[in-house]
Amino acid sequence: AVCPPTGFRVGMKLEALDRKQSGMMCVATVADMMDSRILVHFDSWDGIYDYWADMTSPYIHPVGWSRHNGHGLMPPNGYSEKTFTWEAYLRETQSVAAPARAFKQRPACGFKRGMLLEAVDIRVPQLIRPAIVVDVKEYMIKLNFIGWPDYYDLWYDDDSTDIHPIGWCKKAGHSLESALGPEDFDETPECGTPGCRGIGHIKGAKFATHNSPSGCPYSPQNRHKIKINTNRLNNTHDLYGYDDESLEGLAAKSSNHTRLTDRRSDNANYNFELEEDDRERE
Ligand SMILES: [Zn+2]
Repeated sequence: AVCPPTGFRVGMKLEALDRKQSGMMCVATVADMMDSRILVHFDSWDGIYDYWADMTSPYIHPVGWSRHNGHGLMPPNGYSEKTFTWEAYLRETQSVAAPARAFKQRPACGFKRGMLLEAVDIRVPQLIRPAIVVDVKEYMIKLNFIGWPDYYDLWYDDDSTDIHPIGWCKKAGHSLESALGPEDFDETPECGTPGCRGIGHIKGAKFATHNSPSGCPYSPQNRHKIKINTNRLNNTHDLYGYDDESLEGLAAKSSNHTRLTDRRSDNANYNFELEEDDRERE
């Protein structure tokens, strides 16, 4: 068979970071391909955990990478981490490892704390806000929307298509939200969340606006329900969020399989249910 230029082929095995739950490196398969991107599927796990990764992604590695770098590797369900070997698994599944040359890891983008930019507010993606980098971890940056309390801070991939340099909105003709000032905390909008203009909805694009705390993407009751969709290629509404705890996981790539399994089953249905009592505007 002739290998395509990327070196990847559907069915090839690799090691990939579970970015949604655990920060663990896992046994994975190339489930699909699109140009320079591969669909990462975690062996023995449901497809809802799949994600698209560019071949330059820092989150995918060749078979054997974890062992070589002293990291734990989570084998598929039914295998023990102690006895799992790639050699036996490849033989058993009659599959081949993706060649090392296919992995072309990019460098980090070089963001530093204190840098200013314009970022899509994932809670209400039609809104772009001025933001400041408040933390940097490997290939991710934590942004604070200027004037907003830090519990609204969000993590972004440093190559996210949702972040732009200052001046981008003006150039692109997109409106830029104002930074919040003290005066914004003096008046209470209809939904009760200072700074919120009633645009967007916790249920997503289904509703354009909200007028109550239960619909507000910024209200105290919904603050922790926000998930981040950084995967525009995925055809499911694939939501996932990062908090400091999961980022520690990503950074440390530590191994706690029991907990991972627990968390996965907790989150098997990753949709959140919301009260239906919210009155919607047209
Ligand atoms: Zn609101």
